[in-house]
Amino acid sequence: MNPRTSALLNRLSESATIAMARKATELKSSGLDIISLSLGEPDFDTPMLMKAAGIEAIEQNVTHYTPVPGILSVREAICRKFERDNGLHFTPGQIVLSNGAKQSITNVVLSLIDAGEEVILPAPYWVSYADMVAFANGKSVVLPTRIEEDFKIQPAALEAAITPKTRLLIYSSPCNPSGSVYTMEETLALAEVLNRHPHVYVISDEIYELINFTDQHASIGTIESIKDRVITVNGVSKGFAMTGWRIGYIGAPLWIAKACTKIQGQVTSAPSSIAQVAAGAAVSADPSIANEMKAAFLKRRDLMIAGLSKINGLKVNKPMGAFYLFPDISSLFGKSHAHGVIKNAEDFAMYLLDQAHVATVGGTSFGTPECIRISYAASEEQLQEAIRRIAKAVNALL
Ligand code: PMP
Ligand code: GLU
Repeated sequence: MNPRTSALLNRLSESATIAMARKATELKSSGLDIISLSLGEPDFDTPMLMKAAGIEAIEQNVTHYTPVPGILSVREAICRKFERDNGLHFTPGQIVLSNGAKQSITNVVLSLIDAGEEVILPAPYWVSYADMVAFANGKSVVLPTRIEEDFKIQPAALEAAITPKTRLLIYSSPCNPSGSVYTMEETLALAEVLNRHPHVYVISDEIYELINFTDQHASIGTIESIKDRVITVNGVSKGFAMTGWRIGYIGAPLWIAKACTKIQGQVTSAPSSIAQVAAGAAVSADPSIANEMKAAFLKRRDLMIAGLSKINGLKVNKPMGAFYLFPDISSLFGKSHAHGVIKNAEDFAMYLLDQAHVATVGGTSFGTPECIRISYAASEEQLQEAIRRIAKAVNALL
């Protein structure tokens, strides 16, 4: 037997967020009191409205294969949502539902990228983007941003990163992992750069749309001059606490939606019919359904900022959306503890796990090795305890 995997496998790494969550779960089940702040998943349950829609779908026998891009009435509901909330105009043919936004983005990357073509990833970026590009044998071009600029892309830096080989820019707002939210003005400034480079497409990942403390969501796809090059991605995982239902979707130029449908038709056919119906109920609901959860996240964000800012060695950002903090911990590099030296963010995340029993994720896999990601989708009691433990562990460093 020769257990040889493909070259593709060798290009991919395990998702760092999922790896850390798995490690935390293993330690927890071995009896350790681990506080897991590693996974980006709301700690709320799916609202009754969507659960009831799913149950009704089962009872009404909506349990057969659906069209590959999704049930027509659900795609129509998504068109209405895009119109109502984002000022984006799509027809149902431009919508494709997939098994989570993760598959939506993968479909688009595989539809657009040939080997060696460049994809600009402003860092910090969501871990999976780089591996999706690797899937297509494309080349990730990491564009660093600075905590002092709220981890946002500066137009001049974007301009400088574009080459004739650039095919795609992928970014999220609100951003995972920085929590940064682009204003419409900042979005327009990026579009102005893109106006000069008509060969560059954009994936606008808006999955955290409903967890935005500014209440101003800017969709770059509304900008007329570039709208034919923008793929807007959204889903129900975050804003509606529906991670396990696995529904994400795109609104895209027709030819890209068709390309994604072709890929999906060979891979998964379509997402679950039942989950599609529940997602249809979610996007048709008044978006205020997410307000209670958002208010809880805002309270926790403030609690975390207040607690972590007091710890020497952590430079804490002030995110305006999502449910992550992304503190810069580089001033701790070179410090030591009983089992070694902190050389990078991964070492620090492992130290926190071993010493403080708090699971976070090192920033290297987000393209920003000076920082760690802390998900505050946990109870206030757990967060207070996590702050206490992190402070103790940092103070113990020599
Ligand atoms: N985009 C971003 C920025 C994310 O954080 C996530 C994490 N879940 C996804 C996409 C994918 O979400 P899902 O597949 O659950 O829809
Ligand atoms: N997207 C979430 C995160 O960033 C869930 C894990 C994943 O899909 O990678 O933690």
